[in-house]
Amino acid sequence: MNFKEWLLEVDPNNEVIGEIPYKDVAHLLTPTQKVNPYTQKTYDDWPGDQRGAGRYLKVPFNGDQIEIKLTKQLKSIMRNGSRCVKCGRAGTRFKLLRNGIHSPVRLALFTQDDRQLTIDHIVPRGHGGVSSVNSDNVQVMCEPCNAEKGSAYVGIWPTPDPDMQ
Ligand SMILES: [Zn+2]
Repeated sequence: MNFKEWLLEVDPNNEVIGEIPYKDVAHLLTPTQKVNPYTQKTYDDWPGDQRGAGRYLKVPFNGDQIEIKLTKQLKSIMRNGSRCVKCGRAGTRFKLLRNGIHSPVRLALFTQDDRQLTIDHIVPRGHGGVSSVNSDNVQVMCEPCNAEKGSAYVGIWPTPDPDMQ
């Protein structure tokens, strides 16, 4: 998914309802590796409760707790180091977002200078790249770096594949 496609997936009218420091939540957003006893394949077991198609967990907020929905973008960012691979900026605070009063609250990770961390597909989908956030085809980029890259195939940052430029 490139940046423009990603923007279409999130609501541009995100309602920010608060912020939480990275260190207060990051340890709660770490999957454990488990093995499926039938297939013997390892998989990420995320914390929280599975409800329908979503997974929800409580995080500390303003001296209380608030329930958030784990999004695939957030999982992918947490699995992939929560730092922009291009400029090196790290996520330092989560913003709590929702699209309306009846929508689940979700977390978006921002750098100190307010760049949102996003997911970049190393091989763009338009070039046949796999779009699953669990694949090896994703890396973390901040919004400006992702927008600058666009849908060009530049390989894994910062060592572009010379054959593909
Ligand atoms: Zn960046």
